[in-house]
Amino acid sequence: MRRKIVAGNWKMNYDLAETELFLVELKKQVFPENVMVMIAPAFTNLNHAFNSVREHPVTIVAQNMHQNNEGAFTGEISAKMLKSIGVTTVILGHSERRAYFNENSTVLSEKVNTALENEMTAIFCVGEELKDRKEETHFELIKTQLSEGIFHISDDAWKNIVIAYEPVWAIGTGETASPEQAQEMHKFIRKTIAEKYSKEIADKVSILYGGSVKADNATEIFGQEDVDGGLIGGASLKVDSFMKIINAFG
Ligand code: PGA
Repeated sequence: MRRKIVAGNWKMNYDLAETELFLVELKKQVFPENVMVMIAPAFTNLNHAFNSVREHPVTIVAQNMHQNNEGAFTGEISAKMLKSIGVTTVILGHSERRAYFNENSTVLSEKVNTALENEMTAIFCVGEELKDRKEETHFELIKTQLSEGIFHISDDAWKNIVIAYEPVWAIGTGETASPEQAQEMHKFIRKTIAEKYSKEIADKVSILYGGSVKADNATEIFGQEDVDGGLIGGASLKVDSFMKIINAFG
């Protein structure tokens, strides 16, 4: 009953020609019916990508956006700009945004509000660093990220939220959380949402796992009860490996 999602986060990879090359191949593929397929290209290629997959079951997603709707914010992109080219889903709070661009919970909670005000879907990312896991503070940290970043929204707004759990130590490192570690945290996230809101709401939220998901570990990770899909970095850059991950749900 929960939406199954496989989303490719391309980060700062692929120019226009490379984006189109990938999409031409992707459009030839058939996806399992129960899986929503998403791609998040660079800002400069969103418009092209959106038009390219218009007739196909692929959702084009932004990797970020500004919390203000307009104004003197040189270099930034607003929700209105994204919506004007048809993009209505945005990744917020990716660990690289948190780490390299100082996106803290205050800014992220504003971004969540802006997404919701603009009737967009937000893929809200949380994740601990290795030191948090070693110190066994990872559950507390994830709870704080959820409380500070997203627990101010209304019950109704949850229909426009997807959570992505991405342990920082597993992103781009080749090190994946074990299926058990992923399940343990996803279950905890769902329980935390249920305690703050309700079981009904928590049961409906898709929670994606991200961090070195590959063709050969996707089936096991996606097989966990509370894992509803993945946010895929490196392995989403080739149609072949991305399709294998998508088909892990098949
Ligand atoms: P990775 O990245 O799959 O390359 O580890 C995941 C992400 O950062 O979303």
